[in-house]
Amino acid sequence: MLRGAALRVTRPRVAVLTAVHDHPHADTDSIIGVAREDLGDVSHQAVYDVLRALTAAGLVRRFQPKDSVARYEARVGDNHHHVVCRSCGAIADVDCVVGYAPCLTADGSIYEIDEAEVIFWGRCPKCVAAIQVK
Ligand SMILES: [Zn+2]
Ligand SMILES: [Zn+2]
Repeated sequence: MLRGAALRVTRPRVAVLTAVHDHPHADTDSIIGVAREDLGDVSHQAVYDVLRALTAAGLVRRFQPKDSVARYEARVGDNHHHVVCRSCGAIADVDCVVGYAPCLTADGSIYEIDEAEVIFWGRCPKCVAAIQVK
């Protein structure tokens, strides 16, 4: 994947990309934790730099629900969206609503739109079940 994006293959890049692959929607701290299992004592800054390079190359997608830290995932290019649980913050993927970008029309905009980034908010099954038990 790195070679396909014309990025030099380095151990930190491979470790971070693997971590993002294996842990969809992970935040930076958990990615650092996973990368350290692989690389030993890699610095925060090094992981940030790699995440920035991977995001810029389009191998990783960064998104940030409100009141949350940035999240990363390796599922890119399919215009999928996210649903976030208001109670526990769990995040799940939602397929593109219409199947292709930009998914929604922006009536009245004179911009040429190519993407719509949608975050749905609600409650996850666990939190719904917890409320019903009470
Ligand atoms: Zn929840
Ligand atoms: Zn996702």
